[in-house]
Amino acid sequence: MMPDMHEHLERMLTRLKLTAIRDHLDSLLDEAGRHELTIREALTLFCEREIARKDQRRIDMGMGLAKFPFVRDLAGFDFDAQPSVDKAQIRELTTGRFVANGQAVLLLGPPGVGKSHLAVAIGREVIVAGYGVLFAQATTLVASLAKAHAENRLEERLTHFAKPKLLIVDELGYLPFEPDAAHLFFQLVSRRYERGAMLVTSNRAIGEWGTVFGDPVVATAILDRLLHHSHVITIRGESYRLREKRRSGLLQRAAPAQTSS
Ligand code: ADP
Ligand code: MG
Repeated sequence: MMPDMHEHLERMLTRLKLTAIRDHLDSLLDEAGRHELTIREALTLFCEREIARKDQRRIDMGMGLAKFPFVRDLAGFDFDAQPSVDKAQIRELTTGRFVANGQAVLLLGPPGVGKSHLAVAIGREVIVAGYGVLFAQATTLVASLAKAHAENRLEERLTHFAKPKLLIVDELGYLPFEPDAAHLFFQLVSRRYERGAMLVTSNRAIGEWGTVFGDPVVATAILDRLLHHSHVITIRGESYRLREKRRSGLLQRAAPAQTSS
């Protein structure tokens, strides 16, 4: 190709934002030549590469915006170690259908059984499926709403948390909420209700949420909305890490209580 023609093509590709094709133009043309692709086949190959890069960019950006506290994925989740988790149900959640339908997912169970791991893993897949996700610790989220409320910016903050297609609220119930905080959380849940999906993890059974929110009326109102279109997943069993340590012999099973003689 003539040098000025090459530059002309590069400029057009830039203008069309086909940057993957532009940046790999020579190697793509080589590849098409080597495999003796027809023009239609070559165009298909170029489009595939462009789309692959755009998808990857979108996913990278989505992962950044989601603010996951750590990296966990589904491949790293040992389902055999956690028979109370239905693999098919988790797989279904990773399709993002519950997000499209604005449903809620509650992941309940004692500490260490993999709730946060699954929440992050599902969140990642939901981003890959094309939805915006935001991850927040329950206490951080509520503190942020309370601060905004005190500064007369509650509306703006509620909008911030209501925007992503999926909001993940992790570790609800590790600390009981102040009554004001419970009410702020209720406002957020109401705002998202039937518009945006939520995934909530908690170490407290639903029956204990009255105590978590410090107010049974607010707790009922929150649960009413969360449970309306919901998937409730209860994980049983002991902490994964303790189990692993015990297996490797680092920890002994608790000694039986001594009987005084
Ligand atoms: P929870 O949120 O229920 O308290 P986490 O998800 O934080 O528990 O899990 C505690 C640690 O154990 C994390 O590092 C997590 O990756 C790991 N873990 C828990 N369950 C599993 C599992 N089934 N397979 C692999 N790692 C697990
Ligand atoms: Mg957790």
